[in-house]
Amino acid sequence: MQETPSFQNKTTMVIRRSPLVAEYGRLEEESPRQDNLPREVQRKKPDVFPHLKEPLLMRHYHRLARMNYSWDDGLYPLGSCTMKYNPVMHDSLSARPAYLNAHPAWGEEYSQGALRLVYETQKMLEDILDIHSVNLQPAAGAHGELTGVFMIRRYFEDKGVDKNNILIPDSAHGTNPASAMMSAFDSVQVKSLPDGTLDLEDLKNKINDKTAALMITNPNTLGVFEKNIIAIKEILENYHALLFMDGANLNAIAGRVSFKKMGVDVTQLNLHKTFSTPHGGGGPGQGAIGASERMAPYLPSPSLRMTLKDQKPWYEFYSPAKSIGKMKAWYGQFGIIIRAWAYLKTVGNRMADISGKAVLNANYIKNELSGFLEPASENPSMHEAVFSQKTLTDAGISTMNLAKALLDRGFYAPTVYFPLNVPGAIMIEPTETESKEEMDYFISCVREIVDMARASDEGRARIAGSPYDTAVRHIDEVGAARNPRLQW
Ligand SMILES: *Cc1c(COP(=O)(O)O)cnc(C)c1O
Repeated sequence: MQETPSFQNKTTMVIRRSPLVAEYGRLEEESPRQDNLPREVQRKKPDVFPHLKEPLLMRHYHRLARMNYSWDDGLYPLGSCTMKYNPVMHDSLSARPAYLNAHPAWGEEYSQGALRLVYETQKMLEDILDIHSVNLQPAAGAHGELTGVFMIRRYFEDKGVDKNNILIPDSAHGTNPASAMMSAFDSVQVKSLPDGTLDLEDLKNKINDKTAALMITNPNTLGVFEKNIIAIKEILENYHALLFMDGANLNAIAGRVSFKKMGVDVTQLNLHKTFSTPHGGGGPGQGAIGASERMAPYLPSPSLRMTLKDQKPWYEFYSPAKSIGKMKAWYGQFGIIIRAWAYLKTVGNRMADISGKAVLNANYIKNELSGFLEPASENPSMHEAVFSQKTLTDAGISTMNLAKALLDRGFYAPTVYFPLNVPGAIMIEPTETESKEEMDYFISCVREIVDMARASDEGRARIAGSPYDTAVRHIDEVGAARNPRLQW
């Protein structure tokens, strides 16, 4: 086992349990101030509220905060979520009062600065993808997919062509079939080959004249780039079917591929993965929808464009000729677009360095862990390394045991049991912002866990009983979902 870098030694005290304020505060009856509330919602009698001194309250919340795990604590290898370091400067920019106080109902006349920022973000994304048009109305990734599928449906309605199904590879992200179904297409699964790429023979068997599109995640959820994308596009064209590419995994290919050359008709991006907002952060996301020239007239309304007014740039909303209409109350999530704009401006023309390093890091993890974990595909990884449970089963432990044992070693757990086409999958995405030292420490911990399970019955039992050092040890996940107790 490699030596643990000293900065990684855990020094923080484990917080076993934090009582509720109601458990240690002095409980007192109190009538809340409610004079301004309508009579029918006012309390009839005073309720009981906990009272405690300010220092106790500070400690209470600080303790709760320390139970969280964030990127600031260490590696956050949650595959598919691109949990990378996002500069704090971008947060502070989006919190500037001029932006915070802006309101979308002010109208274009009073919002030219904000609209310019959104427009410039669209333009930079169009350049990075090499695609005709980008629209930032969708609220998140899956919402962008739905927007794209609506555009596909409207395209064929407009052409008077009857289509009823969308093909989806088994390596696609789970939201893809859901989006297809929500717009009343049948979703038909296409198999992938052992190397993780699409089975072209199966594609030829499944496609028919009623196929509206193939919805392919590229790179897919196995972290494999679809090298046959041009051949796939040709097959689709023979059936007048469109190519929808789920681009949420853009962190692996940004600045390196041309969506136009791949023949992408519609794509959706997640700005809250690739462009300076974390995905697993629990806050709002931000989608983007990209369209080829023939699909641009179907983009949602409003779309945003630049024209000239008195010879000066003027930013305005408009409705594309054959628009599917509105997908969201306002135009995107402005605070997230500001972060993306700041990130794109900071990165400039170095986007390919970012995707290159993300891919290098994932392959480093994949190579160093092969032997301890079984790679799900023989192909080199893109931005994430996916393993099956094989070597763990041989050692007598499960994927879940490994994930929980990693919590004791000071990490957030990787994504587990996803993608579904890999038995007991483990999906590790280090991202470009992890250093070699941090990755080496993570690798040494995975190896140590597998070695320990292999070495003896005691070792195996020890790993299977993990975690030991978390605030809550063994959670009944199914019970918590089925019978939530939401009240103290
Ligand atoms: C994350 C992700 C999505 C869904 O994005 P949300 O913003 O969570 O709705 C869709 N496809 C892929 C490939 C993803 O990784």
